[in-house]
Amino acid sequence: MTTRMVPDSVSISSLNTLEYCPRRFYYQFVQCDMLVNEFVLEGTLQHQRVHQPGKQSMGEGEMQTTHLYLYSETLHLSGFADVIEEQGGMLIPIEYKHGRQGQWLNDYVQLCAQALCLEERQPGNALISHGYIYYLGSRRRVQVNFTPELREKTLSTIARAFSVAALDKAPPPLDAPLDVRCPNCSLQPLCMPDEVKLLQARKRGNLQ
Ligand code: SF4
Repeated sequence: MTTRMVPDSVSISSLNTLEYCPRRFYYQFVQCDMLVNEFVLEGTLQHQRVHQPGKQSMGEGEMQTTHLYLYSETLHLSGFADVIEEQGGMLIPIEYKHGRQGQWLNDYVQLCAQALCLEERQPGNALISHGYIYYLGSRRRVQVNFTPELREKTLSTIARAFSVAALDKAPPPLDAPLDVRCPNCSLQPLCMPDEVKLLQARKRGNLQ
């Protein structure tokens, strides 16, 4: 596969998409294709409060900032955090997600990338120990610890984002078992995973 020019930076939210599906990442962030389905619309509506920039005091020594712009010069990342809580001088990223906690790591990677951006701006680059994901569907707040493994995974996802963004065409559709993600994907009408896989199988001579 040939390659195109590597972008200067990637967005933090695109890492979530890449972990979910590289093909979706390519459509959405390289080709700027987006289709809205019920899940996308529901997520947009549920996110309205945290997408308004603002600051509010939560009590003594506690401050909450919504829709904060983050960036990292060293990692070439930029994007918005839903909420950053400051508790006794410690910064804690909080991401709101519609639906319930899934079995994939994509939300964790996005949150950890926010922490990496924040750490770059902390005195002495102090490490942030954890953040939270609030799942609106189940009203559950899940603590995510920024372990060495999650940090490693996040850094490798960032590197992969640059290599996929440099491809000349979209990666192939997801195979089993990951293709269970396809039925809820808003880009399915554009991606046509079953049809593409059928054509690929025919080309390989596996099917008539
Ligand atoms: S339909 Fe499946 S393969 Fe296609 S973009 Fe969506 S998740 Fe990826």
